[in-house]
Amino acid sequence: MTVRCRIAPSPTGPLHIGTARTALYNFLFARHEGGVFVLRLEDTDVARSTVAWERDILEGLHWLGLDWDEGPEVAGQPARGPYAPYRQMERLPLYRAAAERLLAEDLAYRCYCTREELDADRAAQEAAHQAPHYVGRCAHLTPERRRALEAEGRRPAIRFRIPAGTVAFDDIVRGHVEIDASALGGDLVIVRSDGTPLYHFTVVVDDAEMAITHVIRGEDHLSNTPKHILLFRALGASVPAFAHVPLILNPDRTKMSKRKSQTAIADYRAQGFVREALVNFLALLGWASGTEEEIFSLDELVERFDLARVHAGGAVFDRERLEWLNGQWIRRLSAEELAERLVPFLAAELAVRQATGARLVREPTAEEIRPLVPLVQERLPVLGAIGDLVDFLFIDPISVDPALLVPRRWDAGTTLAALEAAREVIEGQGRVSFEADELEGPLRDLAARRGWKAGDLFMAIRVAITGRTATPPLFDTMVALGRAHTLERLDAAVAALRERLPAS
Ligand code: GLU
Repeated sequence: MTVRCRIAPSPTGPLHIGTARTALYNFLFARHEGGVFVLRLEDTDVARSTVAWERDILEGLHWLGLDWDEGPEVAGQPARGPYAPYRQMERLPLYRAAAERLLAEDLAYRCYCTREELDADRAAQEAAHQAPHYVGRCAHLTPERRRALEAEGRRPAIRFRIPAGTVAFDDIVRGHVEIDASALGGDLVIVRSDGTPLYHFTVVVDDAEMAITHVIRGEDHLSNTPKHILLFRALGASVPAFAHVPLILNPDRTKMSKRKSQTAIADYRAQGFVREALVNFLALLGWASGTEEEIFSLDELVERFDLARVHAGGAVFDRERLEWLNGQWIRRLSAEELAERLVPFLAAELAVRQATGARLVREPTAEEIRPLVPLVQERLPVLGAIGDLVDFLFIDPISVDPALLVPRRWDAGTTLAALEAAREVIEGQGRVSFEADELEGPLRDLAARRGWKAGDLFMAIRVAITGRTATPPLFDTMVALGRAHTLERLDAAVAALRERLPAS
């Protein structure tokens, strides 16, 4: 049997980390088993589904590297796979035919109850402290009664008969689950009176038609599964295996929701989390590798993934771990690859600086960034941090806060004297070549001669040429900036300090 599993997102919001993790588990399982990974769009909630959300979901999955073997037509690319279409709104005739089959076999019936009748039932049940359920008013209508109701102009919904008995299944993650069918709320509407099919029905018709063998989905669907199993049986389809993966929780163990937490994959991407780190992180959010190792590439995950090691307890979202993994993965990228990925982040940051008056002195291209990679690779928690690390190499003038310019143990006079002396040393040194290891020694000697702490001198220089107190290593930074620029910025700092000091 070929394993076939699927991700079935509803395009009613951006790609959520929970959906991304479920997609990842389906992908890993399918690849590990040599099976097929299907993408199906569950877009029957017409009021809330949009093309923009659909694009966000598909792009996000593709960006994560979770490419599907079968899926809908997108952006002019035809649908892929033998069970097309893969968009539920294009499959309505299939649901209609399946509903007709159930009606013909009396496994479903037409229900003419009005909203008012159903509301009154519910109110009575509430008053009697009963769980809400359909009372079965239309379960056994005579043909005459039906004709009379239709003559009133009532349009029927279609209800599936929930048979008596228990429904049991062995969930791969949760173990044995058993529920009495009487707790399922009574006969289930599968098609509304306006003819639109409901989720419980479409999901089963599609999983059956698409020969899905394993349904791997969020734990929030566990309570739906008994209904789905009954529908599979009624449709004469084989029941797939189920694996319900744990919810993703906030650190306080409440359910992660978009109101309380950052849940859109696009937001993580925009901040400069790399796909390798997100995949690694999501894989470990609910699955145990069984080893001490923590760093796994997508290929390594495919090799090791096993549904048996998905745990049943909630998976707490640990942002610090994600950030740590991100730093680890950024360090693992080749210099070329990292430079390429940094381009849009640096460009965006520089655009902000330009908007406030700075001039671009070099373009943030991969070629320009490439030599800076050794200076920043270890220092980037996220790609979006690149601007603060190197913006001063790309714009002019930089803004230097005069208060930062004077090291804590110094006064403005000492700082002025130190920067003037440093300028002279740097100018003298750099005439032949401008190399990091030729700058450090002479500047340390200067500090020693004048009785300054080298750290204070270096801080004053750092702020003068970058505007910042934290930068990549100072001497490499000077080299990256170039001799002329370094001297110019020292001059500007000296001039600014002179202006602040009373004329002597
Ligand atoms: N469209 C459903 C959802 O997004 C799919 C659930 C399922 O996997 O069965 O929750």
